Amino acid sequence: MNVSFQKTYQAKLEDYEHIVGRGSIEELKTLSGKLSGKVILNINSTFSGGGVAEILSHMVPMFSQLGVNAHWDVIRGDKAFFKVTKKLHNALHGKDEQISPEDMSIFKETSKRNIEELPLYGDIIFIHDPQPVALIERKKEHGRKWIWRCHIDLSKPTKASWSFIQPWVVQYDAAVFSAPAFSHRLHIPQFFIPPSIDPLSDKNRELLPETIDAVLAEYAIPTDKPLIVQVSRFDYLKDPVGVIQAFKQVRNSIDCRLVLAGGTATDDPESDMVLAEVIDEADGDSDIHVLSIPPGSDVEINALQRAATVIVQKSLKEGFALTISEALWKAKPVVASAVGGIPLQVSHKLTGLLSHNIESTANAIKELLDNPEYAKWLGENGREHVRRNFLITRHLKDYMLLFLAVDRS
Ligand code: UDP
Repeated sequence: MNVSFQKTYQAKLEDYEHIVGRGSIEELKTLSGKLSGKVILNINSTFSGGGVAEILSHMVPMFSQLGVNAHWDVIRGDKAFFKVTKKLHNALHGKDEQISPEDMSIFKETSKRNIEELPLYGDIIFIHDPQPVALIERKKEHGRKWIWRCHIDLSKPTKASWSFIQPWVVQYDAAVFSAPAFSHRLHIPQFFIPPSIDPLSDKNRELLPETIDAVLAEYAIPTDKPLIVQVSRFDYLKDPVGVIQAFKQVRNSIDCRLVLAGGTATDDPESDMVLAEVIDEADGDSDIHVLSIPPGSDVEINALQRAATVIVQKSLKEGFALTISEALWKAKPVVASAVGGIPLQVSHKLTGLLSHNIESTANAIKELLDNPEYAKWLGENGREHVRRNFLITRHLKDYMLLFLAVDRS
């Protein structure tokens, strides 16, 4: 069920001034002037679902406003290809997942088709994540600058998965990771640039209380008890089943509700299976609301995050988790696993609480429900931390500096 809210607000560069200050906006204008005439082509594997598509959908129009000629395309692949890339994604995150010789040939075959058919143009080709990594084979032919932007936690990949993609990675002119811990011994320049959220997008802008109420009513979520919320694709690595188990422990002592809001991504074939397991674990419990939300439901996600008493991100592996910046921007207290890029956002006991397993997740949620003043303080600190570090304006600046550095290399 989707409450169809119209996209009502298209932010202009100047609209960000009251959030980040005039200096930041002027800086962006100066940098964009230096890139004038350059064409940047972004390529990833999906236009919708997941953090990369979320970021690009806001970044590319903002670049246009700045006069930077940025474009966005996606590689094409069938179910078999995305099954392999999902395995690869999990293995690069360190999950013990075997990639068979047949998987490798599916990957190479589909990459070859994309190499032949995808229009590749521009001064900088900006490839996001492992799915399109092999497009670099076109580098010789084009002689442009190529950057590989890895959005996942690459700190402990399985040996086989890293050996598989590394020969492509080293051909790039530069690699970008979200955190220094994800870097590798590479003979190419490496840059560290964390992701960001757009504070003025439908997903993050202020909402009227009536809008929040309407969304809760639409999804039949009563407002009688504290609301624990996790927003995430139905993916094993987001551990939605673990969230339900933690929630059940919390509810043994504090009456509350759980909302698991998720969707699917066109490049993720596992979500139906995970959703089935989640429904099984919820077992018809009327305090557990499992919402399968269609793509583009940004106001709905925003409203659910704003309605939350505590927001959870119990990921087992995580590149960054935009959902945490989204929650903190709304000044919400967050309980999140101490994995991957999450500690960049959640400093334990300063901008949220970090947890390590189901039990500590449950204990942290209880602590926040029992101490609303402390929860509020953490949320407010978190909002300021996001304002300073994880907004789109900082990200645009970092990317423009990156493009300038790589272009002149
Ligand atoms: N998201 C969404 N609908 C959903 C689930 C997630 O719009 O049903 C959004 C979420 O708000 C965030 C992005 O998808 O903007 C997920 O990015 P994140 O970095 O948290 O995780 P990823 O999916 O990339 O692993």
